[in-house]
Amino acid sequence: MQKLLNFCYEIEFYIKIAISCTIFQQVFYFFLKNTKLNFIAQIILYWCIGSISFYLLGILIEKGIKSNDILREKLTIRVNQVKKQPFPSFTLKGIFIGEIKAIISALVILSLATEVDRGNNLMLNFGWFFMRIAAADFCFYVSHWLFHRKFLQKIHLKHHEFRDTSSFVAGHKSFLEYVIVTLTDLLPIFIFGYDITQLCAWTLIGNAYNLEGHSSLSIFFIPSDFHDLHHTCFKGNYGIQGFWDRIFKTLNTPTKKRGIMFPMSLLEANLKSDRHS
Ligand SMILES: [Zn+2]
Ligand SMILES: [Zn+2]
Repeated sequence: MQKLLNFCYEIEFYIKIAISCTIFQQVFYFFLKNTKLNFIAQIILYWCIGSISFYLLGILIEKGIKSNDILREKLTIRVNQVKKQPFPSFTLKGIFIGEIKAIISALVILSLATEVDRGNNLMLNFGWFFMRIAAADFCFYVSHWLFHRKFLQKIHLKHHEFRDTSSFVAGHKSFLEYVIVTLTDLLPIFIFGYDITQLCAWTLIGNAYNLEGHSSLSIFFIPSDFHDLHHTCFKGNYGIQGFWDRIFKTLNTPTKKRGIMFPMSLLEANLKSDRHS
C-alpha cells in the first residue's frame, strides 16, 4: 500500500507539470496563433520568457514568500538544518554573462531543432508534456548521477558550493554543466521538433519547479525537501523528484508535506487517520 502511495506522489508531480505546461501553452497559443514569428523573433521570445520568469519567480519566492513569516513557517519542511549561507550574489557582470549564455543557447537550440506546429489540442499537449517531464526526469537522473562519479565531479562541484539552498542556487552551475543539462532537458525536441508555444511553456514551468526545488520550501510542484537532502548529503536523490531514484534505489527519503496543493499528501493523511481511528 505504501509503495503504491509513494508511486502516486511521483505521478502527481508529472501530472502537475503536464497540466501547468498545457495551461501556459494555451495562453501562448492564444496570443501567437495569428502571428508568424520569424527565427529571430522566436529566439528573442524564448530567451525573454526564460530569463524574465527565472528572475521574477526567484524574487517572488526569496523576497515575497520567505519574507512572510507565516508563509515561510508553513511551507518550510527542511529536516536537516544547515548553517545559513549567504544568498548567491548578483553582480552586473554575472547577470550579463548569464544572459549572453541564455541567448546563445536559445540560438543554438532553435537552429538545431526543426519547427513543427502542434496546435492547441488539450489532450495532445497534456500527453506531450507528460512524456517530456518523465523523459527529462530520467535524463536528468542519469546525467546528474554521472556528475557525482569521481571522474566527472569537477563539472558539478560549483553547483554544490551551497549546502543551504535558496532558489537562485538553481542557476549556479559551471558552463559545462549548463550545456549538458540544457541539452538533456531538451533532447525530445531535437528528435521530435519544437513548437514555440510548447517550448515557452516548458521553459517557464521548468524555471518554476527548479527554483522551488532549491527554495527549501514546499510550494506547489515538489512536495518535499527532496533536493535539499541532495545538497546536504551530497548523495542520493539525483532525479528532479523521487521516481527514478526509487527505481534505481538511490532515494534519500524526503519528508512529505501536507497541503492543499498536494492532493496525494491529503489522501495519505486521511488514510492514516482512518486507520488510527
Ligand atoms: Zn548534485
Ligand atoms: Zn541543486
